Amino acid sequence: MPESILPISHHCSSTLERQLADQRGRRTHDPLLSLVVPVFNEEESIDIFLEAVTPMLERDRLRFEIVFVNDGSRDDTLAHLLDCSMRDRRIRVVNLSRNFGKEAALTAGIDHAKGNVLIPMDIDLQDPPELIEPFIARWREGYDIVYGVRAARARDTAAKRVSAGWFYRVFNSMSPVRIPANVGDFRLVDRRAIEVLRQLPERNRFMKGLFAWVGFNAVGVPYERPQRVAGSSKFNLWRLWNFALDGVVSFSTVPLRASFYGGLAIAAFAVLYALFIIGRVLLLGIDTPGYASLIIVVLLMGAIQLVSIGIIGEYLGRLFLEVKGRPIYVVEGVYEEGAVRPPQA
Ligand code: UDP
Ligand code: MG
Repeated sequence: MPESILPISHHCSSTLERQLADQRGRRTHDPLLSLVVPVFNEEESIDIFLEAVTPMLERDRLRFEIVFVNDGSRDDTLAHLLDCSMRDRRIRVVNLSRNFGKEAALTAGIDHAKGNVLIPMDIDLQDPPELIEPFIARWREGYDIVYGVRAARARDTAAKRVSAGWFYRVFNSMSPVRIPANVGDFRLVDRRAIEVLRQLPERNRFMKGLFAWVGFNAVGVPYERPQRVAGSSKFNLWRLWNFALDGVVSFSTVPLRASFYGGLAIAAFAVLYALFIIGRVLLLGIDTPGYASLIIVVLLMGAIQLVSIGIIGEYLGRLFLEVKGRPIYVVEGVYEEGAVRPPQA
């Protein structure tokens, strides 16, 4: 079993110890574990996933349910999932009315999970099920959030590693809540943290950030992230970039302030330059050639204004989406044992 690292705590160690001991006392029963699995066009992966996960959970004698969220798949994913739920009553399928994206699908699954502890998992086995047992062990020690830390990203491309490193650096320097580096959605979360999470009303679900915002005592367990078992990744570079942008903009207003200070700095420079030119005219007389400096200033000012408006636009656009107050996802139906159950509230 990997050694765990990085307890993220907001307390000194003796307070942490006391809180852990307190939670430990309440966790002597067998918890109901909910695996929350968003799926989008994954017909090849479903059986592989279940064959890897179910025997392992049974071997560890864990009580569990698996909540699959079908995120508007366009292949045979839903039919496959319904078959599985017919064969195994521990499997529930939340079918969304269309593709809402992974973060929304995860939210739907979390809302429909009944367990005392939840683990969001990707279906492609990039979140190794062997970690479930060490996660539970840490939970029994009293931690509320146990997250998987990608120890080595040796299999990722250099571009992905570098950009991910930059993302965490930029995000954490701007946001009041820090997200631990190299942590995905794969983590165990106790029911009390889930209840707080469910009260966060925002439509823009940057899950890693929301989990970090919730707080509580967290600890990390390192693991090697394997390759996807079947199918292909649903995230290309452009989607990742937008995902990163969403993350920063929904957790920090520093970019707005930065454009304000940028404007101030340039204004100060402009005043100094104006004084310089006026002084030169007074001392040396009028000097007509000035096209180069003029055009540079015009272009620079135009560019800076556009960038600033763009930054404001990012926030305004999100404000617009939040204000409309549309639901985060729409459930077509919840299926148990292959048949539909009336949607839960
Ligand atoms: N996924 C989803 N909706 C989407 C995109 C992805 O539910 O719009 C699911 C997908 O089926 C998988 C998980 O999210 O279970 C992670 O996706 P993927 O493996 O493609 O991401 P990567 O591991 O490449 O970051
Ligand atoms: Mg994957």
